[in-house]
Amino acid sequence: MIITVASGKGGTGKTTVAVNLALSIDNAQILDCDVEEPNAHIFMKPGIREKIVACIPIPEVDEKRCTTCGRCREVCAYNAIAVIPPGDAVKGSVLIFPHLCHGCGACSLLCPEKAITEVPKEIGVVEVGVSGDVRFAHGRLTVGEIMAPPLIRQVKDHIDRARTVIIDAPPGTSCPVIAAVKKSDYCVLVTEPTPFGLNDLVLAVEVLRKLRIPFGVVINRSDIGDDKVEGYCRDSAIPVLMRIPFDREIAYLYSRGIPLVREQAAYKEKFKALFTMIAEKVA
Ligand code: SF4
Ligand code: SF4
Repeated sequence: MIITVASGKGGTGKTTVAVNLALSIDNAQILDCDVEEPNAHIFMKPGIREKIVACIPIPEVDEKRCTTCGRCREVCAYNAIAVIPPGDAVKGSVLIFPHLCHGCGACSLLCPEKAITEVPKEIGVVEVGVSGDVRFAHGRLTVGEIMAPPLIRQVKDHIDRARTVIIDAPPGTSCPVIAAVKKSDYCVLVTEPTPFGLNDLVLAVEVLRKLRIPFGVVINRSDIGDDKVEGYCRDSAIPVLMRIPFDREIAYLYSRGIPLVREQAAYKEKFKALFTMIAEKVA
């Protein structure tokens, strides 16, 4: 089973839920797909056994073959190619913008002159390891690089289907989140009872409904703010799976990089109960 822990906005406690869930169940694997700012390793402290450089294929044009027909520019959905047609005094050329390229391969496939070859471009690194009984993998996007989705897919290549997989998704509702949450059996949306929390929860719910992935909500710092998140979940028939109250001790443990369930046994039982609820819903 693959469970993704996501949130419409950062700072809601998504990683806290992902890490403590992984540490509370048997035979777990945690994948930190928040590749722009991975932090599950701070709590899991894994021994890294493998580092894999992550690349995407970027087109390179052979000017001798290129006729500047413009086909590659037409097929590129990401505006990563510009074609300068030949003029009276200038020879035409093709410009590639590597930072916009998603490495989809369409341009090289469809170039009628076979003038495009692909060269690897490094976008980050995938690190794979183990923390106690829990298998671990995360991605680190190179600073200044914006292509998070291909790196997320490369982290997900390490999914071990024999285990319960917990994915810590990036915050938000854009392409990286969709790359992380795709093909999950269930998604846990972590939110907080504030107007911002509600606004971003509504957006995340819309995304998951479009992707047809079942989901439930965990309300973090549940005893502060207002009751509008509870009301929204009730009115929208969204299950509230767990409530975590604001607690100075939880904040202290977080700031020290100590998983909550390692210090408070009662929470281990709560996260086990959360997993049982999810497993029943998936079944
Ligand atoms: S499709 Fe091929 S031949 Fe046409 S402009 Fe692009 S690289 Fe040149
Ligand atoms: S590989 Fe895909 S994204 Fe990159 S330039 Fe070619 S068509 Fe555009």
